[in-house]
Amino acid sequence: MHLRIGVMGGTFDPIHHGHLVAASEVAHRFSLDSIIFTPAGEPWHKAEHTPAGGEERYLMAVAATANDPRFEVSRVDIERPGPTYTVDTIADLQKAFASTQPHDTAEWFFITGADALAGVNGWRDPQHLLESVHLIGVTRPGHVLIDPGLPEGAFSLVEIPALAISSTDIRSRVATGAPISYLVPDAVEHLIAKFELYQPTSGKQAHAGIG
Ligand code: NAP
Repeated sequence: MHLRIGVMGGTFDPIHHGHLVAASEVAHRFSLDSIIFTPAGEPWHKAEHTPAGGEERYLMAVAATANDPRFEVSRVDIERPGPTYTVDTIADLQKAFASTQPHDTAEWFFITGADALAGVNGWRDPQHLLESVHLIGVTRPGHVLIDPGLPEGAFSLVEIPALAISSTDIRSRVATGAPISYLVPDAVEHLIAKFELYQPTSGKQAHAGIG
């Protein structure tokens, strides 16, 4: 069997309905058989540490995707020590695929925010990454992409109106006591409350996580 597999890369801090709509829309437009969400490990490229730990972000992603048979969540990035490089993410997933489905072949697609994608040329081993996957940047409405300087045909852009929702906004809403219902799945809202994430004076930041 020949499969078309999407890898949804992101920090997912927290995962929200914009991410889920984006994954579903890309699966439809690119005829993908499945999408593997890969919560990033250590957010090395950010000035500040992520408020939620890797394990918490992983659990929220599992809870958010549980109802959709096309979606799964991988631990490859939160378990690999050190910074998350997408070229390693893809290599780990391809290795696992080859060992669990030795008779199948696959075409790989890496999906992430178009802002993040604009920096691909500065990522580790971009040439190898481009040979391994087709890149898909999902954009917010009205977003203008800074030219990623990638060869034509190596990437696609898809506008997703639901990406008006952002993780940054959700974190600040939680911190100020504003509602997040309907912006995130119910199960994610419950986990945010249970782990006491994103509170302004929370001493519980990253308590369960690797990231
Ligand atoms: P980010 O800087 O946190 O996000 C940039 C923008 O993209 C934000 O607006 C974010 O919105 C959006 N975004 C991120 N992931 C998304 C997704 N899957 N779907 C829709 N929108 C998304 O980016 P990041 O999360 O750290 O990194 C994105 C991916 O690129 C990760 O898999 C990361 O490991 C990879 N990356 C790799 C390298 C490398 O290999 N050297 C360097 C940088 C990033 P939200 O905050 O609402 O998600």
